Amino acid sequence: MTAKIIDGVAIAKVVKEECRNRVEILKSKGTTPGLAVVIVGEDPASKVYVRNKIHACEEVGIHSAIHEFPGTASQQEIITCVRGLNQDPAIHGILVQLPLPAGIESRRVLEGIAAEKDVDGFHLRNVGALTVGEPALPPCTPAGIVRMLEHEKIAIWGQNAVIVGASNIVGKPAALMLLQRGATVSLCNSKTQNLAQYTIMADILVVATGRPGIITGPMVKKGATVIDVGINRLSNGKLVGDVDFEGARNRATYITPVPGGVGPMTVACLVSNTVQAAERAAGI
Ligand code: NDP
Repeated sequence: MTAKIIDGVAIAKVVKEECRNRVEILKSKGTTPGLAVVIVGEDPASKVYVRNKIHACEEVGIHSAIHEFPGTASQQEIITCVRGLNQDPAIHGILVQLPLPAGIESRRVLEGIAAEKDVDGFHLRNVGALTVGEPALPPCTPAGIVRMLEHEKIAIWGQNAVIVGASNIVGKPAALMLLQRGATVSLCNSKTQNLAQYTIMADILVVATGRPGIITGPMVKKGATVIDVGINRLSNGKLVGDVDFEGARNRATYITPVPGGVGPMTVACLVSNTVQAAERAAGI
């Protein structure tokens, strides 16, 4: 068996095309959606991510603004900036690029963002809304994963979903979103004993650990869908996920590549959340 590769770039294009149409409607009613990105410090990877996000917004007609701070900026300066953006009617989405430099408490900064402008879905109100299944701005990476599964018409209801990695931004919200769609969910972390006994049961296997090669072919159930969230730069410069792609591909029915899988979907879902926030502000 050779799995079908889920093309995240192509599905992201579809999502962005939908967003472009929604932006046109918003503009015809007098609202141009706006995204503000706050970036602190000089982390090169963060700068690349921010550039991609701004570019994707521009592609669909969203106005964007970057607020750059040196790594020496204080927590209060960042919070003051965020509070100013909360009051700005031209800005519908605010994103603080993580990680923040040591000494700045991310949670304090994220709680400073107005929940209705929290397009990353990290504010406690949005996390709580997700937990109880209320409509909210969902975290972008899990939203992108669900959108990929839906696009490929992969069943979630009644399936075994195993998530490897339990972070607040990927693993936990992905578990909640799949649970709400009727999956039976196992959420594994670094303390999980005998990881393979869980992964081998997975009809849908989501891997988000930042550990290249943590999932090998024999750990994948025959016929599974494998979603590889990991992004790892090897010492030879190659970009890989967390899954042994060739090993898993021979057992799975569907698999996402790295790059070109979950990454572009995360960006597309950020664009979609920004449009959604603007629609709500405009009463649409
Ligand atoms: P974190 O470091 O915040 O979390 C990693 C999680 O993996 C933790 O829950 C940790 O367990 C778990 N873990 C670590 N080692 C093991 C192990 N041996 N067995 C089982 N679980 C393990 O990472 P993120 O969630 O932020 O990111 C994960 C990966 O996804 C990274 O490569 C990141 O670059 C990538 N990423 C990709 C995105 C995309 O758009 N494609 C978006 C966001 C992240 P514990 O809780 O016990 O510490």
